[in-house]
Amino acid sequence: MALSRRFTKFTRRQLLAAAAGVLSACRREPDAAVSPAVDPAKEWLLSPGSAAPDWSLLDPFQESITRADFERGMLEVLSNGALWQQVEVLDTEARIRMSTPQLNGPRYTLRFAAPGRPATRGTRYWRTLGELPPLSDSTKPLSDLHIVLDPGHIGGAWAQMEERWFQPPNAPAVKEGELSLRAARALAPMLEALGARVSHTRTRPEPATGIRPGQLLAEARESLLQDRKPADEEEIRREAERLFYRAHEIRGRGTLVNETLRPDLVICLHFNADGSWGRPENPILSPRNHLHILAHGCIGPDEAMLDDQRLEGLLRLVQHTPDTELPLCSAVAKRMRESTGLPPYHYFGGNARLVPGETYVWTRNLLANRIYRCPVIFCEPYVMNNEETIARFTAGDYEGLADVAGVVRPSIFREYASGVAKGLRDYFSARI
Ligand SMILES: [Zn+2]
Repeated sequence: MALSRRFTKFTRRQLLAAAAGVLSACRREPDAAVSPAVDPAKEWLLSPGSAAPDWSLLDPFQESITRADFERGMLEVLSNGALWQQVEVLDTEARIRMSTPQLNGPRYTLRFAAPGRPATRGTRYWRTLGELPPLSDSTKPLSDLHIVLDPGHIGGAWAQMEERWFQPPNAPAVKEGELSLRAARALAPMLEALGARVSHTRTRPEPATGIRPGQLLAEARESLLQDRKPADEEEIRREAERLFYRAHEIRGRGTLVNETLRPDLVICLHFNADGSWGRPENPILSPRNHLHILAHGCIGPDEAMLDDQRLEGLLRLVQHTPDTELPLCSAVAKRMRESTGLPPYHYFGGNARLVPGETYVWTRNLLANRIYRCPVIFCEPYVMNNEETIARFTAGDYEGLADVAGVVRPSIFREYASGVAKGLRDYFSARI
């Protein structure tokens, strides 16, 4: 799940956590009139762990998108209006605010392509359906495709720190970071059998980043100072841990994906939760179970003010990423709906938007689906704190079918994986 808990009042730090996409949809206050604190003495307003934005990354994409496509992408995918306050759209170019604190500072000028001109690839490392080589073997529709599996969270000794565990009665502990690894292990051979090359952001319950919380104490002190929070040693230690698993761990994976692996797409594998499970030692179980898939978009007003998030969102737009990502998410949602039989999850709040014509696919601005510079399919099936799901976790992975909780069915990991694999097969079978 892409959730956190226990926030009732927004502070700057919590807003930044929201901007990184780690607050629960159901706990976020949709109409809260809040903005990040802007210090005009600073050069940038940034998300936690972000480097200064390099606006020259947009340079290779000059004249790569028409004004009509730019406006449509801004309105229908990237933002529900918030970005328009930061981007001035003229006839032949967009003028983009580079720094929120430097209100009257220089703007980045992005020139539009003439209508009818084919989109340029710029420095984009991933390939669209039309750019992949033609299929020579129709039984391997994923051939020549490089896919990265990104099992969400960490698990293992880190599960308690990252608050992604609970202990159900009479069953093994549930740790999302380990369940997502098991889903990845089930999925990889299915994708390889369809011809794909598969890489992983991690294969063990260990962080992908080399950074550890102990190295983030100064950053934690600064973060707490900005909130004017009393910074005793215990609170500083906790803040350093939050910065580690919410920001630096995911940014480490971003560096791996964008600079080393450079795949055609990333699949983020998560399990969801329903509401809060309360105290991990005595969790609240839910009768509900559901599924949804996330594509990137729906940047909110507070998020649009963060200079790094504005750049990353626009980079996705000029690379025409939503044109591939949204149909991919739709194809995977259709098959996961069939494989799991789960009803759709529905967000109530302003931080996610249902994609028109879909019932399972939402846009949401998460750190992982924003900073990976390629199409991302972010999967959120199954409610971990649902009793039937816990019984399926306890049954583990197995071949074929077995009776679990009174129903004969495949293991939860293979059911999850087969839905994803079939969705990708459907999408990439359109290659000629
Ligand atoms: Zn998760």
